[in-house]
Amino acid sequence: MADKYDVIVIGSGPAGYVAAIRAAQLGKSVACVEKWINKQNKPALGGTCLNVGCIPSKALLESTELYHEAKHNFADLGINTGEVSVDVPKMIARKDKIVSELTGGIEMLFKANKIDWLVGTGKLLAEKNVEVTDHDGGKKTYTAGNVILASGSVPIELGATPLEGDIVVDSSGALDWESIPGSICVIGAGIIGLELGSVWRRLGSDVVLLEALDTFLPMVDQQVAKDAARTFAKQGLDIRLNTRVTGSKVNGNKVTVSYKDKDGDKEMVVDKLIVAVGRRSATEGVIAPEAEIGVDERGLIHVNDQCETSVPGVYAIGDAVRGPMLAHKGSEEGVMVAEIIAGEHGSLNYDAMPNVIYTHPEVAWVGKTEEELKAEGADYQAGTFPFAASGRAKAKGDTGGLVKILRDKKTDRMLGAHIIGPSASELLGQSVLTMEFDGTIEDIAHTIHAHPTLSEAMHEAALSADGRAIHIANRKPR
Ligand code: FAD
Ligand code: AMP
Repeated sequence: MADKYDVIVIGSGPAGYVAAIRAAQLGKSVACVEKWINKQNKPALGGTCLNVGCIPSKALLESTELYHEAKHNFADLGINTGEVSVDVPKMIARKDKIVSELTGGIEMLFKANKIDWLVGTGKLLAEKNVEVTDHDGGKKTYTAGNVILASGSVPIELGATPLEGDIVVDSSGALDWESIPGSICVIGAGIIGLELGSVWRRLGSDVVLLEALDTFLPMVDQQVAKDAARTFAKQGLDIRLNTRVTGSKVNGNKVTVSYKDKDGDKEMVVDKLIVAVGRRSATEGVIAPEAEIGVDERGLIHVNDQCETSVPGVYAIGDAVRGPMLAHKGSEEGVMVAEIIAGEHGSLNYDAMPNVIYTHPEVAWVGKTEEELKAEGADYQAGTFPFAASGRAKAKGDTGGLVKILRDKKTDRMLGAHIIGPSASELLGQSVLTMEFDGTIEDIAHTIHAHPTLSEAMHEAALSADGRAIHIANRKPR
């Protein structure tokens, strides 16, 4: 293995591995340092996203959604199944198989692109030197023309609720239970808490989510968030706002959770506790002081718009830097940085960043919320369309939710799109593209949408922003 590379990437999550592959495509010699040891006790590429994040959570959401459908909704579709039962160990094994196929896939892509995987922990020293400590403690120093820091993030732990075995767990632990807990408390009703809560609720657990804030999903358009709160409550997710968890104590195979709500201090006893209070950048130990890279009090590495640090040729991307902690955000930063290193132009439109909560129904959005536009005093108009009026949603038997489009009244440009409903994550693509192309609502209104598809709801919401929706009566623009 060479000691000198054009590019060394520290971290192989969706930010780091994408940066490494793009840099190699552009003719650079590339190494990627990764320390991850997976569930099978083997080194693995792919970071949080592939090993314990996006992919395994979606695998379990898929299994449990189909189980729920088979159990509760197939009969309405004229399908009789008899008793539907669930095999949790098989579900977990399927999830693990998907993870190992995908992480193995990254290994193959590294080989195909001649990227060296330096197995171990990387630390940036001065002068773009990178020290790698292997899992046996052996050290070797490599040097690079450019270094990309992509060390990602880890779950935030609460001092008052320490993790304990498989009873008090973080998001990773909640992806691995092999039997269905009777009752689960989730700390934090954010995206991860809602997704994991949904998985286990669909399998039959009693799930309560305790959320310190008094607003449900404050980053989501509140019309959509209210719709989501109603739907999740109907599904049996017991979401309690204004409720701060203050401690936990494991007794045998139960855990007592202490919390404070508007009525004072309380306790509940549950089988499992999931701590889902967010993630923090994982930069400790990644940068030696002599490298002179600035990190803020939350551990985020200081970068400019092009993700370059204060040291020329050293970049940082993904969850390790400012911005939403999303896999696709990190990947696109990886592409941008690799292209800049190769002398190409690179930029990223952070205003057109898609966001998704993969519950059922899914919640997906891009751009500004109506609350943000109001606060800015923007001259905007909203168009909405409910899936209840969509022929395709009716045929699917999945009519909850709506599409909402926000347009600039003067320029007709799309300011935001907010969807709650079936396949919202896939439907959102059209709006992201519209924003990326600086398109208008009229562009969507002019576009022919196949019938019957869920995407017609997007079309109708665009028409509705101008008072022209066909399939809904009296829908005046506001
Ligand atoms: P990471 O994926 O965290 O990867 C960083 C890598 O760097 C790790 O492999 C780590 O071992 C390695 N590393 C760190 N320090 C060193 C070092 N010193 N030396 C060597 N290696 C090092 N995002 C979405 O967009 N969509 C989703 O659906 C989604 N679902 C999620 C579900 C869950 C349960 C969780 C926990 C997260 C989810 N996320 C989702 C968030 C997403 O996983 C992260 O935003 C994404 O993984 C960040 O990518 P990254 O490459 O910056 O960091
Ligand atoms: P997210 O950042 O989307 O992963 O969501 C994490 C959520 O956890 C946030 O909405 C926080 O308000 C919430 N949270 C953090 N600490 C506590 C706590 N001690 N009790 C209840 N909720 C909390």
